[in-house]
Amino acid sequence: MKLSSTVTLVFTAMAMANAQSTKSTSSKSSTSSTTTHNAPPPQKSPEWLSHVVPLSGNVQSYPSGGKSIPTGPLPSVSFDISGYPEGWKSPPTTSAEVKAAIAAIDWSMVPNVPVRKSDNNGDLSMTGYDDAKDPDCWWSATGCVTPKNASIPADVANCPNVGDWGLTYDDGPLTADDGGKWAEPELYDFLAAHNNQKAGLFYIGSNVIAAPAAAQRALANGHTLCVHTWSHPAMTSQTNHQIVAELYWTMKAIKEVTGVTTKCWRPPYGDVDNRVRAIAWQMGLTTVLWDEDTDDWNMPGEGGGNLPPATVDGYFEGWINSRKNGTDNKHGHIVLQHELNNSTVSMAEKWLPKIQQVFNVVPWNQCFNISNPYWETNFVYPVADESIPKNAATVTTSPSASASASVAASPASLSANTVTSTPTDNSTPTDNSASTDNSASNDNSASTDGTASSVHAAGAVSASAGSRVTAASTAGLFGALLFAVLY
Ligand SMILES: [Zn+2]
Repeated sequence: MKLSSTVTLVFTAMAMANAQSTKSTSSKSSTSSTTTHNAPPPQKSPEWLSHVVPLSGNVQSYPSGGKSIPTGPLPSVSFDISGYPEGWKSPPTTSAEVKAAIAAIDWSMVPNVPVRKSDNNGDLSMTGYDDAKDPDCWWSATGCVTPKNASIPADVANCPNVGDWGLTYDDGPLTADDGGKWAEPELYDFLAAHNNQKAGLFYIGSNVIAAPAAAQRALANGHTLCVHTWSHPAMTSQTNHQIVAELYWTMKAIKEVTGVTTKCWRPPYGDVDNRVRAIAWQMGLTTVLWDEDTDDWNMPGEGGGNLPPATVDGYFEGWINSRKNGTDNKHGHIVLQHELNNSTVSMAEKWLPKIQQVFNVVPWNQCFNISNPYWETNFVYPVADESIPKNAATVTTSPSASASASVAASPASLSANTVTSTPTDNSTPTDNSASTDNSASNDNSASTDGTASSVHAAGAVSASAGSRVTAASTAGLFGALLFAVLY
């Protein structure tokens, strides 16, 4: 299922606009011509969340400047969950709120890709899918993270700089019901006690409303909050409207509990294709995957499996050894871990100090100098100039055995906070219901000419390696890298 891939990195320097900027920025391929849709549509702060009033008492900025961060037992937080769907169940799509989010999407920019079939474990049927052509850039089938269709945004999948370890934990916040004494703030306190380590946290909306104080603590501690859906389905198995609902309720939960409107998400099981990407993008979200997988969720524990912990230990040992002996020298990593249960948290605590000795451990967004992971620009996260890749344009590599997608991509949605244009051609929202089984070949309908990009079939690289397009820098703009990997 994996492709033996040559990876070529193409940079595009992009401008990261702050909220004060009135100019929108666009990225155009250096090879594109006069096509209508040679880039993803512009994003804007979701108006359909503007009615949400956050809880009071949240921090209003990143805890910088040596500010002490809260640790220890969480306060009790009163939160009314009555307006939310049932936790861990597929949320309804017919509420006025979800309908508003659906109506805000330009569906002409969402490819007509079949809804996949999946069982309750997220196991997907790939019968009939053409892996070689990979028309939908379906990660679960091929590890694809960079769509050939230029109107579909690429995913973020690894840190560009050698030696960087993009720290991420999924499935949180870990509630007392699921974690017992390992519930938050256990891991957050551990991180704080170890070099005030920051992480990227991909939250389940159902857990956010079940443990609001934990989510607030995470923001106050300086972690980066992103969406990981409401009920954790394989997202390619969801209809268009179900995808919106999964993202909507989680974004709302994070905003109402913590006050921030996040700009990033990670699909459960990594299951994403161009249809899902396109919808998430228009909801203001960049897709963040990983290139190293600890498989920690599969260890025995609440909601876990039967993987021997020694196997997970072996992965960490291997990554440390590869870094030490110089063979891990192509790029940095984004690593998948979980705040799921006692096993995953104890494993995280066991290895973090060792990882910190060998890698530059940062939240994933810092690898890309993304300082504004939320639409609220009063939160300004640290960036590091040294994380700007210098020589990566000549990098070639192959996916590692343990990585499902060891390639990087573009954090483009996080690079422009301000968008002036409003989609004007919203067609009637359509829900490609589960009965859809049109052939998997309509990716390019209505949105691309197929020639805007010099990327062709998976596995073949013909792209303009090393070509750079430098977006105009204007006052108040951050330089950011759009990091596209073509394969
Ligand atoms: Zn998950």
